[in-house]
Amino acid sequence: MSIIEFRQTSKHFGPLKVLDHVDLSIDEGQVVVLIGPSGSGKSTLLRCINGLETITGGDLIVDGLSVTGGKKQLREIRREAGMVFQQFNLFPQLTALENVAFGPRKVRKLSKEQAEEVAIDLLDKVGLAEKAGHYPAELSGGQQQRVAIARALAVKPKVMLFDEPTSALDPELKQEVLNVMRQLATEGMTMVVVTHEMSFAKQVGTRLIFMEHGKIAVDGHPREVIDTPPNDRMKDFLQHVE
Ligand code: ADP
Ligand code: MG
Repeated sequence: MSIIEFRQTSKHFGPLKVLDHVDLSIDEGQVVVLIGPSGSGKSTLLRCINGLETITGGDLIVDGLSVTGGKKQLREIRREAGMVFQQFNLFPQLTALENVAFGPRKVRKLSKEQAEEVAIDLLDKVGLAEKAGHYPAELSGGQQQRVAIARALAVKPKVMLFDEPTSALDPELKQEVLNVMRQLATEGMTMVVVTHEMSFAKQVGTRLIFMEHGKIAVDGHPREVIDTPPNDRMKDFLQHVE
C-alpha cells in the first residue's frame, strides 16, 4: 500500500521551478534513497512531504491525508513524518533526554515521567542511554545525530525522512549513524533518505531515485542502477560522489 503519493506535484519558488510534475508512489516499508546533483530538488521533495514547504501544483498524499487539506491535516502529517537534518538541529539548552522527551510531552501529551520513559528507551535504542544527561555541545556529531533520530522517533512517525544525515560528520562517525538507520530499516520503517553513501544505498535501500532539474530521472533497484547507471548524467554524478 502506498503511504506517500506525489501526484503531478510541482513546487515553484517564485519563477524557479524546483519540482516539476513529480509522480511518485512510495509503499510502506520501502527504503528510498534519493540522489542527484546539488539544486536538483531533493531537499525540497523531502520538505514537501512533511509540509515544511507548500506545494504549488498537483497534490501530495501522506498516509491518506493531503498536504493541501488544511492546518489540521498538516499537523497530523507532520507528526507522521519525522525528519532528520544534516545539521542535527537539537535544542542546545536541553539535555539529550529532554530533547527526545520534548515531542512526547508536547505532541503526544504524555506526563513528564511517561515522556522520559519513552526517551530513555529511544536513547537506549540508538546506543546513548548513558548520555541522557548530556547537552548537545557535550556530544560528538555522530552522537548528536543519533539523539536527533531518537527525537524524531519519539512521536511514533510512520515515515522517516533523512536529509544528508551524515554529510556533516567525520568519516569515522558516519557509520554509527548509518548503523542506526540500517536498524530502523530492518524493523520495517518507511524511509526516504537523501545521501551520498552509495554503499548504504546498495545494502539498505530497496529503491533508488536519481533526480535532475526537479524531475525523477531514474527510479530503480539500488544495486542495479548504481552498478549500471541507465543514463550518462547519473554515471557522471556517481563518478563524483564515489
Ligand atoms: P538539493 O537538495 O537537491 O540540493 P534543493 O531542494 O535544496 O536542492 O533546492 C532546489 C532549488 O531550489 C535550488 O535552486 C535552490 O536554490 C532553490 N531553493 C530551495 N529552497 C528555496 C527557498 N526557500 N527559496 C528560494 N529558492 C529555494
Ligand atoms: Mg539538499
